[in-house]
Amino acid sequence: ELTPSGRAARAGLAVVAGRLKELEDHLGALDSVAADGDHGTTMTRGMDAAVEAAGRAGPDASAVLIAAGMAFADAAGGASGALWGAGLTTVGRLIEPAGPEGLEATLLADALAAAEEAVVRLGQSQPGDKTLVDALHPLVETFRSAMADGADLRAAWAHAADAAQSAAAATAQMTARRGRAARLGDRSDGTPDPGAVSLAASAAALAAHFAG
Ligand code: ADP
Ligand code: MG
Ligand code: MG
Repeated sequence: ELTPSGRAARAGLAVVAGRLKELEDHLGALDSVAADGDHGTTMTRGMDAAVEAAGRAGPDASAVLIAAGMAFADAAGGASGALWGAGLTTVGRLIEPAGPEGLEATLLADALAAAEEAVVRLGQSQPGDKTLVDALHPLVETFRSAMADGADLRAAWAHAADAAQSAAAATAQMTARRGRAARLGDRSDGTPDPGAVSLAASAAALAAHFAG
């Protein structure tokens, strides 16, 4: 029997999987500019596996997200598989104290900050290196400050997703310093980072889902 938070986590994962499927070709094309072109298929493979694992996991959001993160890392492979896997499992572990009756927003902000830390530790990248961290960092910071300013969870997430999308677009102006694209120097200049774009689009899809 799923708790409300478990149901919400499963639904959120399915929404993200659907959006990534729509963007699969676009993400692949972005990744082709200066890397190996597999980012679209990597993300859909990972998120489809995450949804499937989530469907067998329960009862709460913590268990659902931990199972999803492990399955994502396993199925996706590559840099984004490891990084998303670490991020999802970290959020899952940290929200556990929320208990069965749903997420407490400050707990979610702390869990997101911990996920960013885990991703940064694993990838050894900072904002400005032209990676998914360039979308993740403003997502986490904007969510946290909106919550601190008294926004409700839905409004805070909408602000955060907007910030992530602007930041992902702005990576076009950066030169890659981490990941495969960094090996080709300035080849990706003028093109946004695929990992930043997929992360921001996932956040935006969740925001639209919450709003609907
Ligand atoms: P791979 O590079 O293994 O083919 P993907 O194409 O799925 O993996 O993912 C590429 C994305 O992963 C990049 O656009 C970038 O956002 C992210 N990425 C790669 N390396 C790192 C890193 N060290 N730190 C943070 N993000 C990274
Ligand atoms: Mg790639
Ligand atoms: Mg690859």
